[in-house]
Amino acid sequence: MTVANRKDTKGTTVVIGAGILGASIAFHLSLRGERVVLLDASEPGQGASSVSFAWMNGHNKTPQHYHDLNRRSLDMWDRFARQLGGDVGLVWGGQLRWASTAQGANDLVRRVQQMQTWGYPIRSCDNSELISLEPRLSFDKVTAASFTAIEGHVDTEKVIGACIRNAGAMGAQVRAHTKVQRLDLRETGKNGVAISTVGTTHGDIPCDRVVIAAGPDTAEIAAYAGVEVPLNHTFGASIITESIPPLFDIIAVLHTCTDYKPQMALRQLDDGSVMIHGGLHGGANDRSLGKDEAEISEVLSHARQIAPALEGVAIKEVRRGRRPIPADGHPILGYTESIPNLYLAVTHSGVTLAPLVGELAAMEISDGAGIGMLEPFRLERFG
Ligand SMILES: Cc1cc2nc3c(=O)[nH]c(=O)nc-3n(C[C@H](O)[C@H](O)[C@H](O)COP(=O)(O)OP(=O)(O)OC[C@H]3O[C@@H](n4cnc5c(N)ncnc54)[C@H](O)[C@@H]3O)c2cc1C
Repeated sequence: MTVANRKDTKGTTVVIGAGILGASIAFHLSLRGERVVLLDASEPGQGASSVSFAWMNGHNKTPQHYHDLNRRSLDMWDRFARQLGGDVGLVWGGQLRWASTAQGANDLVRRVQQMQTWGYPIRSCDNSELISLEPRLSFDKVTAASFTAIEGHVDTEKVIGACIRNAGAMGAQVRAHTKVQRLDLRETGKNGVAISTVGTTHGDIPCDRVVIAAGPDTAEIAAYAGVEVPLNHTFGASIITESIPPLFDIIAVLHTCTDYKPQMALRQLDDGSVMIHGGLHGGANDRSLGKDEAEISEVLSHARQIAPALEGVAIKEVRRGRRPIPADGHPILGYTESIPNLYLAVTHSGVTLAPLVGELAAMEISDGAGIGMLEPFRLERFG
């Protein structure tokens, strides 16, 4: 790995949040020779990134510029894994999805056609093809289906661990259990302000730039500097089973459409355990942090109907967390206009987007580049 000469003259960038986005940004900044301090209130990787279904995709991402952002990042994953220099649990094979009502079929076919016009390699397939792709699965009622060969999933814990190890080897300081409680401002002339110090539970850190990549807590931290970030969240849970022999012949990810109740998704991790994700998307005001036990057993029993190999397999763990969702559903990326040394990186689909956000954010932070494809995703679009 080639590391640029350390740019001591450019000072310190404090990255708040060691989830998949903060870890990727810290790694890419370190590659560019920046002096980085990466902070996390807890152990790195225990936020949304640990609960994530971690499916890398360009599916149903609209409008086209948002689809293109995801597609580009999806295509960057192999290179990112090589840069990280080890096993990050990448599993490719594509995504199979099916509808089970007439309305669901219409929606799916329309979406497939739309994604095709954007050059996304997805196609419709029929029931017999579904069965020939995955003969060991049981599809009850199929009205339409689609297959995309280019999608996959990844082990977020391994990715974050590899980013932190590599960034650390290049000189980044990584401080776990260090919660940010304050951002101090200094005047910069002409009524301008900048963040001068990050106040944490383990002392103050003078800084030249701050990146907030704190997932669902981003808005709370930005508010310490008087910056409003319109961010919602929904709650989600992922069920993880004990390890079983290979579940799929070809695919990496299986999804029902929203017309299947409860909607669900299955993927098999590289240790053989199966992650089942499904049920309702909790509302933003739902304080129950994840799905209740009744919903979890309903999701599990449907998963067993679709994948009979899960019959009798025990649940190892249920992870619950919050999805960080900017108010219009799209990422917030870039320096803020009101505080020019404050960079925000918060998004749903952050696993898909991690290689791209890390690489492009590092270019904007390190070189002051203004990257055109990030323009639609600035905070200022909210007015
Ligand atoms: C159930 C679920 C399923 C999902 N499925 C997918 C999917 O299939 N594909 C996909 O691409 N995306 C998916 N996502 C979204 C994706 O997981 C997130 O967009 C991504 O993980 C966000 O990463 P992050 O680094 O921004 O946030 P996080 O992983 O939440 O990390 C933020 C970090 O900030 C730290 N922090 C918070 N406050 C402070 C503070 N005051 N001081 C210091 N540190 C702090 C936290 O401890 C945490 O470690 C899913 C999310 C969920 C919850």
